[in-house]
Amino acid sequence: MTVNLLDFDLDGLTAFCERLGEKRFRAVQLFRWIHQKGESDPSRMTDLAKSLREKLPSAASVQTLPVLSRQDSADGTIKWLFDVGDGNAVETVFIPEDDRGTLCVSSQAGCAVGCRFCSTGHQGFSRNLTTGEILAQLWQAEFFLRSHLKSSERVITNVVMMGMGEPLQNYNALVPALRVMLDDHAYGLSRRRVTVSTSGVVPMMERLAADVPVALAVSLHAPNDPLRDSLVPLNRKYPLAELLDACLNYLPAAPRDFITFEYCMLDGVNDTPDHARELLELVRQHGERGVPCKINLIPFNPFPDSGLRCSPRPVVLQFARILNDGGLVTTVRKTRGDDIDAACGQLAGDVLDRTDAARRLARMRTETTAPIRIVRPGS
Ligand code: SAH
Ligand code: SF4
Repeated sequence: MTVNLLDFDLDGLTAFCERLGEKRFRAVQLFRWIHQKGESDPSRMTDLAKSLREKLPSAASVQTLPVLSRQDSADGTIKWLFDVGDGNAVETVFIPEDDRGTLCVSSQAGCAVGCRFCSTGHQGFSRNLTTGEILAQLWQAEFFLRSHLKSSERVITNVVMMGMGEPLQNYNALVPALRVMLDDHAYGLSRRRVTVSTSGVVPMMERLAADVPVALAVSLHAPNDPLRDSLVPLNRKYPLAELLDACLNYLPAAPRDFITFEYCMLDGVNDTPDHARELLELVRQHGERGVPCKINLIPFNPFPDSGLRCSPRPVVLQFARILNDGGLVTTVRKTRGDDIDAACGQLAGDVLDRTDAARRLARMRTETTAPIRIVRPGS
């Protein structure tokens, strides 16, 4: 297997070009061809030195992920299921809105945190994605969309690390991927348009603030430790007081002056008016002046065997009203792509049953004469 060019941020690509005996500035050209033009074939990178064009095919390639399926929702939402090998698949979702196009990206196959309400969590942990696999989701989605929508402009304006997996438990692969998203020679997204969502890996929140302080969303889901322990098992390691301290410490570096708290509304579990009042107290009383935040209420997406239900709409609205009246800006997340199960937390729906993903893979393999191939330029 040759080197995957999607594994590199600009520093990494520069070092790689130097190893090939090429000048450092060639890396910028190559980086731009790949991430700005979507070009993977060195022979078409016209301004690249001939020597580099000749060396590249045997040394490196843009390694994309085989697409197991693509589903288009009536509302414009698009969901891809990508094969990451060994019967594992991850999902990526594009959500178009009037003023932006958001891509929801996966960071792991499965997840080790095991939240009770999350189908990825129920699936267990398979493995971390590489930087190249994280970026392949963006690269493939962006350049598919540009040709699909006949756009010469950038289509994806925002990235949220809210697909499958806990991004801060795959830190070393995440950071170069975020750097490429932000790099002006690549996607050039502003730090406020790239969001990392975490269930609360406290030490890594501190490192993220130092390394690539993008927008942060924290999955709270409960206003007290006993309840959060039962919903987000990581809370036993990093309880609420520590998590909220980490949020306060993140803010000076953050591109926005608030943290977004996500709160999944579970019928009869965390959705009573008392829970809302407790949540208000929690975030307002923490530290000297409380934690500057916005709350995003997510209607729970049910999946088989979760044993949980979504709170009824009036309960969600009442919960939101209590928080808003108490001075916390609170929104209720719209569900998108319902017809293709693309809504948050449903992302693993198809993959949840890994045997199902494996079966699909097997079917594909028997339908094609050649084994599934990683697409490489020049091959
Ligand atoms: N691991 C990270 C990011 C991926 S999950 C995290 O937990 O933040 C992205 C968001 O989807 C999280 O806020 C998560 O709590 C939410 N989510 C997971 N399962 C869900 C479900 N079944 N219904 C609604 N939201 C869900
Ligand atoms: Fe993992 Fe996030 Fe799902 Fe929890 S909600 S199991 S952290 S992906």
